[in-house]
Amino acid sequence: MPEVTIDQVKTITDIDVKRLYVPSVLRTTCPKCGDKKVVDFQSDYLSYPPANRPFDHYLCCYECDEEWSVRLKLTMQLEVVE
Ligand SMILES: [Zn+2]
Repeated sequence: MPEVTIDQVKTITDIDVKRLYVPSVLRTTCPKCGDKKVVDFQSDYLSYPPANRPFDHYLCCYECDEEWSVRLKLTMQLEVVE
């Protein structure tokens, strides 16, 4: 059976894609006023995102102009399925 070996040293660290749409939804709350914020990454794409390592996704509150960030990690790997 074919196999894929992941090189842990040379793991992917960046995805060279200008608009990467991911089927994930981020729900967070403004730390200042408590307004709820929903980011649907199927429409709010990630631009040249890092992969397999944490990164900060910055948000801005439309109610009070507070800015904050949420630490995310996009995991990507390749596997044999048949
Ligand atoms: Zn706010």
